[in-house]
Amino acid sequence: MDFRFTPEQEQFREHVRAFIRDEVPPEMIAEIQAAADGSASEAGREFKRLLGQKGLLGISWPEEYGGGGKPLLYQFILTEELGYHGLPYGGLSLTSVGPTLFRAGTEEQRQQYLGGILSGEYEFALGYSEPSAGTDLGSLQTRAVADGDDYVINGQKIYTSAAHYSTHIWLAARTDANEPKHRGVSLMIVPLDSPGITIRPLWTMGDGRTNEVFFEDVRIPRDNLVGEENRGFYVVAMALDYERAAVAPISPLQRSLDELSRFTRDTSRNGAPLAEDPVVRRKLAELAVEVDVLRLFSYRNAWMIENELVPTKEASIAKVWSSELAQRMSAVALEIMGPRGQLKGGSKWAYLQGRFERMYRQTPLMRFGAGTNEIQRNIIAQRGLGLPR
Ligand SMILES: Cc1cc2nc3c(=O)[nH]c(=O)nc-3n(C[C@H](O)[C@H](O)[C@H](O)COP(=O)(O)OP(=O)(O)OC[C@H]3O[C@@H](n4cnc5c(N)ncnc54)[C@H](O)[C@@H]3O)c2cc1C
Repeated sequence: MDFRFTPEQEQFREHVRAFIRDEVPPEMIAEIQAAADGSASEAGREFKRLLGQKGLLGISWPEEYGGGGKPLLYQFILTEELGYHGLPYGGLSLTSVGPTLFRAGTEEQRQQYLGGILSGEYEFALGYSEPSAGTDLGSLQTRAVADGDDYVINGQKIYTSAAHYSTHIWLAARTDANEPKHRGVSLMIVPLDSPGITIRPLWTMGDGRTNEVFFEDVRIPRDNLVGEENRGFYVVAMALDYERAAVAPISPLQRSLDELSRFTRDTSRNGAPLAEDPVVRRKLAELAVEVDVLRLFSYRNAWMIENELVPTKEASIAKVWSSELAQRMSAVALEIMGPRGQLKGGSKWAYLQGRFERMYRQTPLMRFGAGTNEIQRNIIAQRGLGLPR
């Protein structure tokens, strides 16, 4: 099996490296890396606009929608390179909402939204989860009632990442209460500055912010419906497939491992570098093996998508492995660092600006995004092993 990239793809990788090295101000990179959520920071959003200006956002979108028309592997290479530096790509607007609009949106919707996503001007938050509808999304209760040419929306969403800096919400709402629970749901686009919307912060243990979003008699035109009324679950499923395919990047973990290895070479304990301690070496070697396993999972997914195969159990395997590996890696780092490893970034005694301390608090949350790891394991059991539901 040969995972080599073509000369053109390697050339593109060099192009991205040169862009990061020569065109992104170091202060911008430092500010993004220091933030709990780099995409949400002012510098992160400015960086995204810079990507848009350089034609790098949507590198793999079709040319007819303003994209670069390159195979998906180019987007993969781009996210690998940006991820190594902790830099954000276009987020789910670009990797999930946009591609779903190519397939399920009307021509007017494509005209209206795709350009804004590509320039970095439009940002979508995903409004699926509710207080009593997470894994069991079919139980959602937010209502959208048709009234003339409008829908009137009432209800509440929860854990809505990015809502506090997004322009729109990609909303799943119930349009028919009499249908069985998965059938009466529709997907619609709601501008977040619409009257009647209240957004409240919900802070995570990893210092990041998600939100509660409340809708009180919010009016939107019925033209904002994506796909057919009451068939919104197809649209959500499509968007979730794209979302899963975009997770599990390898480069942030490779970077963390590189930094941890450097730390053990540069730091001495009892008169000798940590890197000479056999227990430390064994732990780092184990992590190196696990990072390489993730690289293979991740390349297999990219290859499948490139060849128009849909990774289902493969995407689940990569998601479970990457999120749990990130947790293991941060635990190993804190163990190697000892008590000082537990200090937060602001302390002058913190190692590596508290990077691993924060990673330790952030990584449990990765088990939830794009479907919990328990659900991923159910998918692997059913589709991978053929076990009954
Ligand atoms: C940081 C963060 C950001 C998020 N961002 C967004 C966002 O932007 N938009 C959005 O809509 N949602 C978002 N979510 C919500 C996320 O999608 C939900 O947390 C997830 O779907 C699980 O739902 P729940 O939290 O209600 O847990 P529940 O569904 O109540 O599950 C609780 C536990 O039970 C387990 N469980 C449930 N059902 C089963 C089953 N059938 N078999 C085995 N185990 C099961 C789950 O795995 C979990 O461990 C975010 C969550 C987090 C943590």
